[in-house]
Amino acid sequence: MEANKLFQYNTLGALMAGLYEGSLTIGELLQHGDLGIGTLDAIDGELIILDGKAYQAKGSGKEPEVIEVSSDVKVPYAAVIFHQAEVIFKQRFEMTHKELQARIESYYDGENLFRSIKIHGHFAQMHVRMIPKSSSDRKFADVASHQPEFTRENITGTILGFWTPEIFHGVSVAGYHLHFISDDHRFGGHVLDYVITQGTVEVGAVDQLDQRFPVQYLLLPLCQIQCQRSKRRY
Ligand SMILES: [Zn+2]
Repeated sequence: MEANKLFQYNTLGALMAGLYEGSLTIGELLQHGDLGIGTLDAIDGELIILDGKAYQAKGSGKEPEVIEVSSDVKVPYAAVIFHQAEVIFKQRFEMTHKELQARIESYYDGENLFRSIKIHGHFAQMHVRMIPKSSSDRKFADVASHQPEFTRENITGTILGFWTPEIFHGVSVAGYHLHFISDDHRFGGHVLDYVITQGTVEVGAVDQLDQRFPVQYLLLPLCQIQCQRSKRRY
């Protein structure tokens, strides 16, 4: 049996330290998975990989925007997998995201393995945010504290992403990291909370982690990474 390999490019920790510049192309990324999450060059929005296609949910303007991303675009951080459902169940009645998470977790065999998650359904409410484009001289915490948020009601689409076990916090952020994209590809982002009306939930096993690094950037001292693009001189 082939291992289900989670491919992670860069880490959230390095991203948060200021490594915002894209260094892996979408084309290369898609060779490692057909479902996933991430962000784009200059942390310009949320990356959504669904059925082998890449989308960008941008929140820089007043209205949210979703565009398909071409294969030559570069990303600073992403996590993808060739998602294989191990558990599939139907959600037939309304639940809050907390209730659905508890139901999803009831199917986990143990709490120390990563999971891939895919939920297609109808949502009474979907609340997302998008990280706004920024230069490396702005601290991630400052950027992250001013993220546009949007809510849609009665929307059909797919939630996708990963669940990280507590013991691997640091490799990624423990718990859920999920992105959403509507069926009409007009609304999406990083999932904050939702109310599901009904849908199909897929939980995939992860056996292996392939952790890649943007080596050419990590050769530099951290200050240089952070200061490079802001063109400050020391
Ligand atoms: Zn996200």
